[in-house]
Amino acid sequence: MTWDNFSVVMTTVLYMVAAVFFIRGIKLLGKADTARKGNLFSSIGMLIAVVTVLFEKEVTETVAAPPLQNAYVWAIAAVIVGSVIGAIWSKKVAMTGMPELVALFNGFGGLSSLLVALTQYLTSDSINVFTAVTLGLTIIIGAIAFTGSVVAWGKLSGKMFKKNVSIPAKNFVNAILAIAGLVGVAIYAFAVAKGNESLGAIGVVIATATYLVLGLTMVIAIGGGDMPVIISLLNAFSGLAAAFAGLALQNSVLVVSGCLVGASGLILTLIMCKAMNRTLYALLFSSFGGSSAKKSDGPAKEPKAMSVEDAYLILEAARSVVFIPGYGMAVAQAQHAVKELCDKLEANGAEVSFAIHPVAGRMPGHMNVLLAEANVPYEQLKTADEMNPQMSNTDVAIVIGANDVVNPSAIEDKSSPLYGMPIINAFEARTVFVLKRGKGTGFSGIENPLFTNDNTVMIYGDAKQTVTALASEFEDV
Ligand code: NDP
Repeated sequence: MTWDNFSVVMTTVLYMVAAVFFIRGIKLLGKADTARKGNLFSSIGMLIAVVTVLFEKEVTETVAAPPLQNAYVWAIAAVIVGSVIGAIWSKKVAMTGMPELVALFNGFGGLSSLLVALTQYLTSDSINVFTAVTLGLTIIIGAIAFTGSVVAWGKLSGKMFKKNVSIPAKNFVNAILAIAGLVGVAIYAFAVAKGNESLGAIGVVIATATYLVLGLTMVIAIGGGDMPVIISLLNAFSGLAAAFAGLALQNSVLVVSGCLVGASGLILTLIMCKAMNRTLYALLFSSFGGSSAKKSDGPAKEPKAMSVEDAYLILEAARSVVFIPGYGMAVAQAQHAVKELCDKLEANGAEVSFAIHPVAGRMPGHMNVLLAEANVPYEQLKTADEMNPQMSNTDVAIVIGANDVVNPSAIEDKSSPLYGMPIINAFEARTVFVLKRGKGTGFSGIENPLFTNDNTVMIYGDAKQTVTALASEFEDV
């Protein structure tokens, strides 16, 4: 066997090994207790793939001749710089900042596929129609994933696009952009078939520009309950862009890893759509409810506040208690205190459950991860569908830093931006405790009528401190 043949065989084998690591990694990521290992497996797979690509025959041949003799130095420097930035950033990010970091990483994934495709377009002189189509698709999907994720990052971090911008004739504008971009891809493929370079350049510019703008116009108008679903969709886009880039470059490991990300992102999107009672079409072409919440006619009712000591007396007598955690529990890092209170309530004879809304927090599974970290048994975590029928028989619902996911306007007020979103029906419990710091609204920025209901009392303060204080009341008995 010649060295060249051996190198091709080795590359293929190593790519397969990397793919096995990716697949095993994804499998392990499916459970909270093996997720860490899953991350490690996927990272090892990525390392094998990156090192292997540097020794691919085409790459070694290219870097042997000018002007790319220093390409290895640049590539290795880029890997080191990227790894150091990624490691420091991921280490420093607060748990509550994770979702926006993930949104940004999706965006970077889309951007790299876009740049790879543009570089291939600019440097390769032997492009056939199939490659032109796959490059075109990489460009448009990479572009939409990039700008869409940047807007999502801005919204999640509160740094940009905080308010939902409404675009006049949004669906029409988006449809025109989407079609124009596809036409751009078709022009490029046609130009490649005819060998017309300047027409090809026009096609590539149209495809890139329209889908960069489409990412903005598609995500900028999305708010409230739709954000988590759109983030999963952008994640799927970034994977799909990588898969098309892999087809264009004929790189099997890129196709496999891109398909894994794309497919898992799409599955998550569909699961989230189902949980939120939405179709993918409705997500992209309409938004939840109206654009502004109805102003109440009468004088604004004030929520009733209660002290920890008085709340304890109610809790002490409660036989059934439901915890409804939300983003504020993550901010306060109150999960361990919640587990402690849960144990005390159970020791006191109460039946305790957790009602987990699919979009509570700021990333899919956010509450499950936090509660698993605090060793809350998985069987105690119930979905909205499981808990809502039992809510009217519940003595106390303890809403811990949740707001939008318990907002009754989602089912009562057609003008509310949340209208149509399924919620946890906390308002049906005999008594509702709402633990929050003050009058802050939730992610959607709208008021919550639950707080002024007759059966609701507010226990103001940081969630961790309040829950710890409630738990220690049990100790004092
Ligand atoms: P919300 O964002 O609706 O509300 C969080 C509440 O927590 C606030 O009202 C805030 O009130 C309170 N809070 C903040 N810090 C603390 C603290 N230290 N102690 C006590 N309370 C605190 O959260 P939900 O979980 O109810 O809803 C999630 C929202 O995020 C939904 O609109 C969802 O669509 C959106 N979203 C979800 C994503 C996901 O994947 N899960 C992704 C992107 C968006 P105060 O300031 O008064 O304390």
